[in-house]
Parts: sequence; C-alpha cells; structure tokens
Amino acid sequence: MKGTRAIILFVVISFHYSCTSDSGTGCTCVASINYDANADEDDGSCRGCTDESSDNYNTCASVDDGSCETGIPDPIAGCTDPNATNFDATASSDNGSCKYPELEPPSEPPFFGTIFLDPDIITASDPTTFTGLTPAGQGSRVMFDRRVNDFITLNAFLFDATFDDGLTTEIQVNPEFETVEDAQIEAEKYANAIGRLTSGLRQRVKTVWIHKGVEAFGGGNDNILIHTGQSLLYEADGILEETLVHEATHTSIDPDHKDAPGWLAAQQADPTFISTYAQDNPTREDLAESYLLFIAVRYRRDRITDELANQIIATFPNRMAYFSSLELDMHPIE
Ligand SMILES: [Zn+2]
Repeated sequence: MKGTRAIILFVVISFHYSCTSDSGTGCTCVASINYDANADEDDGSCRGCTDESSDNYNTCASVDDGSCETGIPDPIAGCTDPNATNFDATASSDNGSCKYPELEPPSEPPFFGTIFLDPDIITASDPTTFTGLTPAGQGSRVMFDRRVNDFITLNAFLFDATFDDGLTTEIQVNPEFETVEDAQIEAEKYANAIGRLTSGLRQRVKTVWIHKGVEAFGGGNDNILIHTGQSLLYEADGILEETLVHEATHTSIDPDHKDAPGWLAAQQADPTFISTYAQDNPTREDLAESYLLFIAVRYRRDRITDELANQIIATFPNRMAYFSSLELDMHPIE
C-alpha cells in the first residue's frame, strides 16, 4: 500500500539482577528469593522473613521483605469424631485416639439438674461480646418480679446494651436500686455476663429485667429475668454463666424447637432425660436442661471430666445430633 511504512521497533530490555555480581558476592542462601547461584560470598543481601516468631521465618535472610506470615496452623492431631467422648474441636487430623462411652444407656436421668454440674463450661474469664452500655433515662416498663410472682409496672432505669455481633438488648433495672449510677453497675455486670453467651443464645434476648431478691432467674418473653441476691449465690458456686445459658435457651431456642418434630423424635429415641427436672417438665425444661451440656461436650470438652462427658453422650446422643443440626451461631465460644 502506498505510504505504508514499516516501523520496526527494537526494544532492548535489560535485566538487572541486583544480587548478581561478577565479583562473587551476593546472596548465598538457597531458600532466599534473591539467591545468587554465582555468588560464593554472602553480602548480607538475602531477602525473606526475618521475624523468628513467624511461620515462614527464614533463618538465613538478612533483609526483611515484608513476607512474614503468622497464623498458618500446623495440623493438630486429636480425636475428630464429634460422637467420641474426647472429641477435640480444635483437631484437624485424627490420630486414632477417639474414645467412646463405656456406659450402658441409663434407664433413669443421671442428674437432678444440669446448671450445677460444672462451673467451668463458661466462666467470668471467658471473652464477652458485650461492647457498651448507653443510659437511656427512666421509663415505664412492665416487668415480672418473682418476689410478688406477678408482672408489675415500674419507672425503670433503662440502658441500651450493644454486642459485637450487632445484637442489642434493653436492660431494665428496678428503681429500688435508687440511683442511675448503682443501676448502671448492675446493668454492666449482667450485660458482660450475658455477652459471654453465644449469638445463637442471645438472638431473642430483647430485654433484661434486674431486681433485688433471692429468687430464681427466668427465661422466655424475649427476656432474661435476674434477681441479684440469687445471682450472688450462683456466682459463689461459679455457675452464673451456666444459669444464663439455661435461661437464654428458654428465651431463644424454646419458641422454635420445644414442639418441633425433630426435637420430639430425639426425646423419644434417647434412653432417658438428662435430669429429673427435665423429665418432670419435658416440654418446658428439657431443651434448657440439655443445651448447656451439649455446649459442654461439643465445645468445652477439655473443661469437663471424662465421666461427665460419658454420661452426657450415653444419655442423649439424639438430642446432641439435633442441636448440631441447628447450626446455631456459636460466637464467641467458637
Ligand atoms: Zn428452666
């Protein structure tokens, strides 16, 4: 074609290897990315991760290249079968150590009540999801008070509690605590403790009622009921959090599951109830009595005895499977 001209570009690309040297010095570390096969004397230029605490620490690197990584877990050997009594939720590689219940299935409930069995399932040192409390003045609220065994209307101190999973709860404190400062101390204390429960257990806890008095706690009504005198007794026994798990099960799990066909089938299939309290109140108490021990076996196996784990697994394997199938959000305990 007329006027067509061919343009020929000569592109000269030069490679400069910073560590390559004709003089024989350079990086002599084979594990380094700038290893220089021609170098016979190391000049301290080897690049890599120089942080000894990192998973990819390079023992012969002199110059850190920003590649350090931590948190690459080694496979953890242990029992990976959830139905074993020594199931280890942190194990990623089964080492053949699984043990299974040696007990015969019990014919009678092995326990009286489950909140008293082990104080270490959730403790005051465990992480809480509670992030903050905002005073919201006083307002008229209808609250249940076991001392009069009735609903009463009070000008309650109000606090909005927030949790790191986005859930929120209004804490209503009986005006018998007199000052907003004293009411806030109670609200913070119980928001912290409730924050140690899982997201799944807090999902329907919209309000918390706090009264004085030595009366049983309560769950349900999208609420947790607390009497501070009783709380001191639970705290002395280390079972405040265990009791709150029981009550929050009433609040958040009972509504959808106490009459669910899968749950009722599990009750039928298991040898017996876990406690006489559950047996005597199968619709009202069985979920709350059982769920705490599901958490113990599945997520806190290292904190309970082999004997207790054996008894739980031998007593309600079908309830365990039912709870697993719910796939509730277990933050922050897992
Ligand atoms: Zn209960």
